[in-house]
Amino acid sequence: MTDYAALIQWVVLLLSLATSLGIGWGKRGSRRWSKVLGCAALAVAVGFAFTTLAVYANEVCRSTLHACQDHGDGNMSYWFFPLFATPLHWLLMLGFGVRHEPFVVTASAFDLAVEAALGEIQHGRSVHQRCPACASLISVERGDPAQAATTGRIRLRCACSKCDRLFESL
Ligand SMILES: [Zn+2]
Repeated sequence: MTDYAALIQWVVLLLSLATSLGIGWGKRGSRRWSKVLGCAALAVAVGFAFTTLAVYANEVCRSTLHACQDHGDGNMSYWFFPLFATPLHWLLMLGFGVRHEPFVVTASAFDLAVEAALGEIQHGRSVHQRCPACASLISVERGDPAQAATTGRIRLRCACSKCDRLFESL
């Protein structure tokens, strides 16, 4: 009689590994501690779930399909592959690196005020923007007034220095 017991357990093990890969792919992203611990719990859950499946598959294979030999207590040696593989499940879940998301720069209120001030300067108007934090008028200093329009440095300042920016040229 052909014995498929070992084969079935390998298939169940591969399925459990594939499940871990799927979970890992779904959770790919930065490795925070909460995720590492969460995946550890999931890995144990996957280990137990597929061990249950392995026991069930072994039972069906012997009793219903008669394709697996009865190994008596030895059947148990075929049950725990997925459970023993729990650390491997865990590694597979964490194996996917950082999810590559588009890098988004959020302009702060200070950036917006400075940007508006720059717009005024470029249009040759005087700056009337105020710092969102200290409410002081953003001051403009030019390195060389004679050349400021083309090459000079322009320094923006406010009283609390949160709007301080130095531009080589506009
Ligand atoms: Zn300020």
